[in-house]
Amino acid sequence: MLIFKIQQELKEHLNNLKSEAKSIGFVPTMGALHQGHLSLIEAAKAENDLVICSIFVNPTQFNDAKDLDLYPQPIQEDLALLTTLECDIVFLPSQKEMYPSGLVTANEHNDLGYLDHILEAEKRPGHFQGVAHIMKELLQLILPDKLYMGQKDFQQCLIVQQLIEQNEWKIDFRMMPILREADGLAMSSRNERLNEFERAKAGLLYQCLISIKAKQHLDSFKIMAKESWELMERKGLKVEYIQLAKANDLTLLEDFEQGIKMVVLIAASLGEVRLIDNILLED
Ligand code: AMP
Repeated sequence: MLIFKIQQELKEHLNNLKSEAKSIGFVPTMGALHQGHLSLIEAAKAENDLVICSIFVNPTQFNDAKDLDLYPQPIQEDLALLTTLECDIVFLPSQKEMYPSGLVTANEHNDLGYLDHILEAEKRPGHFQGVAHIMKELLQLILPDKLYMGQKDFQQCLIVQQLIEQNEWKIDFRMMPILREADGLAMSSRNERLNEFERAKAGLLYQCLISIKAKQHLDSFKIMAKESWELMERKGLKVEYIQLAKANDLTLLEDFEQGIKMVVLIAASLGEVRLIDNILLED
C-alpha cells in the first residue's frame, strides 16, 4: 500500500496509472475507520483496478470547534485496516497541504442551491461549504472513474453529485448502503463518544425509521413523526428533525406520496453526540 502526503506526488503517480488505462475507485474519509468505511473500500475494490482512500479531517466542514477537537484520529489503526483490505493507495495530507494559505482561503462560496439551505445545512451552518471545498480539491486532484460515498450522509451525497454535474467531471457516483450495529445504530466514527447509557438508547433512531417505513400506508407522516419525536424525547434524546423528502432532490414533503421514491431523515443528539440517520421508502 502506497501512502502519499503531497498532492503533486500523488498526481504524478496517478498520471502514470491513467496512462496504463487503470480504472480508479476513490473513497474519501475522515478516518477513524469502521466497517461502514471498509464496505466502501470493498465495493471500490470489486469494481476498479485500483482503490484510493483519503484520510483527512477537514476543519472547514466542522461548524462546532469542540466536535473537531474531539474527532478521533487513530491513524495507525486506520492504516493497519487499509493494509489488511489491500487498499492500493492512501492519501494522507496535512492541513497545510490542503489549505496552504490558511483556512480563510476556504471562504470561497460554492453555489449549492436549495441543498445548502435545508436539514443538515440549516442545523450546521457552513458545513456543506466546507464539504464542497474539500471534495472539489480531492476530485480535481484524483479524477477517479468511480466515487464511493455512504447513504448515511444522504444530503452530502446529493451535494457531491451536484458538484460532479456542475464541473462536468466524468465520475460515476456510487451511493452505498448504511452499515449498522446489531441494534440498528448506523456505524459512525462519533459513536465511540457515546457513554454506555447513551449507547443503549442510540438504536432508537433506526427503530423510529423502520417503524415509519413499516406503517407508511397506515397513517399520515405527521402523526408518525410526532409519535417518534415524543418517544425519543422521553428517552432523553434531543431531536432536531424528522423529515420526509423526495429522494432524488430532497424536496421536503408534508405527507407520503405515491409513485415517487422518498426518504425519511432524522437528526438527534444524545448528550454531546449528534447522530443522523435515514431510510429510503419504496415508491
Ligand atoms: P466520514 O469519515 O464520516 O466522512 O465518512 C466517509 C464516508 O463513509 C462517507 O461517504 C460516509 O457517508 C461513509 N459512511 C459513514 N458511515 C457509514 C456507514 N455506517 N455505512 C456506510 N458508509 C458510511
